[in-house]
Amino acid sequence: MGNKKHLIEWDKRYIWHPFTQMKDYADMNPLVIEKGEGCYLIDIDGNRYIDGVSSLWVLVHGHGKKELLDAIEKQSKTLCHSTLLGLANAPSVILAKKLIEIMPKGLSKVFYSDNGSTSVEIALKMAYQYRQQKGQKKKKRFIAFTNAYHGDTIGAVSVGGIDLFHQVYGPLLFRTYKAPSPYCYRCSLKLERQTCGLACVEAFERVVKKHHDETCAVIIEPLVQGAAGMILQPPGWLHAVWKIAKEYNLLFIADEVATGFGRTGNMFACEEERISPDFMCVAKGITGGYLPLAATISTEEVFDGFLGHFDEFRTFFHGHTYTGNPLACAVAVESINLFKKEKLMEKLHQKIALLGSGLERFKELSHVGEVRQKGFMVGIELVKSRKTKRPYPPGEKIGQKVIWEARKRGVVIRPLGDVIVLMPPLAIDKQTLERLIDVTFESIKAVTGV
Ligand code: PMP
Repeated sequence: MGNKKHLIEWDKRYIWHPFTQMKDYADMNPLVIEKGEGCYLIDIDGNRYIDGVSSLWVLVHGHGKKELLDAIEKQSKTLCHSTLLGLANAPSVILAKKLIEIMPKGLSKVFYSDNGSTSVEIALKMAYQYRQQKGQKKKKRFIAFTNAYHGDTIGAVSVGGIDLFHQVYGPLLFRTYKAPSPYCYRCSLKLERQTCGLACVEAFERVVKKHHDETCAVIIEPLVQGAAGMILQPPGWLHAVWKIAKEYNLLFIADEVATGFGRTGNMFACEEERISPDFMCVAKGITGGYLPLAATISTEEVFDGFLGHFDEFRTFFHGHTYTGNPLACAVAVESINLFKKEKLMEKLHQKIALLGSGLERFKELSHVGEVRQKGFMVGIELVKSRKTKRPYPPGEKIGQKVIWEARKRGVVIRPLGDVIVLMPPLAIDKQTLERLIDVTFESIKAVTGV
């Protein structure tokens, strides 16, 4: 396919890639993907790679799934777009009903947008406006967590807690209160998980006690802080935090952009800890990874807070052009149908166990500090010294080196700093999953030595 080499040249000439140091990229031989087949990506030279991070955590049923392509084709012949501003369209209505049927109890109204960051912006703005319209004028702030990631727009960055990404924008952001998130491998309270008694819950409670009068809502990534490096919350933590938020009458925003649609082994992470948030943000896996779509789902109580006479102006004045896009909604409906038709979650549980046992041997590698797994979300934290947990100097680009090794062996993965991430498509077959694990193991070994 030598005649496609111009794509490489044009990519370098015209594209600015996200979260990518373009000086490094200029020296690289870029990988240009042309096709997707099942759990594989195929480049312009015909080389095949396992899609080890589900094309940035979105893929559920694999690439080229016939039912999903048919759903898009069928919808494209009827209606490709029509606005949701004051109008309805069939696929968005059908999807909204379906979403409510699978949501945790209490969530009843769907507000669409088109990416995870906007779904978070919407929850923040809704929560804030709800408080204002209730006359709770002092409740202007949010409580968020250290190491949180909720997207890249300014509101989402304001509730973020990853200094590397967020600190530079400090002067542009609104003020939030931060509580420590449980990063047990590097506990900020210097405690051990076996004996800590979830002391970070108390730390959260202290923040709540001090600031609940001014606080509108708490925002959280349930079970796993993904972008921070697949940091897992210990069992019971989420439920305890939710209970405290409820005691103090704080709204609770669950950002399930990464964890939703089966990723953690539950349809939604909130189910595992039996919590009912006031807002749920979903995106990524909602369409099975085929088209951009997001939703912010709220309770009837919140929705009612926006009702009023036209000239009271209690309307939620927010709406993106492609909100409720019929093509995206139609493919999302079919993707949700496939969960049931293909018994996806039952099959997934076996594969989660297989992944877990495959990861055991990583713990023996001398530069693996911690192996974290929740469902089909994996983070392997590499460290210079296992004894002291000292990280590699950033200049060593250890995570990058591992993914280049993996690429040579036919796997596409993407690290988060020095954390090697595995997020296979939920429908991956066992053989491909084993190959993904083997290649990751070999690649880490090749870069770090044993
Ligand atoms: N919230 C969480 C928890 C996420 O992981 C992400 C993306 N990784 C986002 C929000 C932002 O989603 P998007 O990139 O679609 O804007």
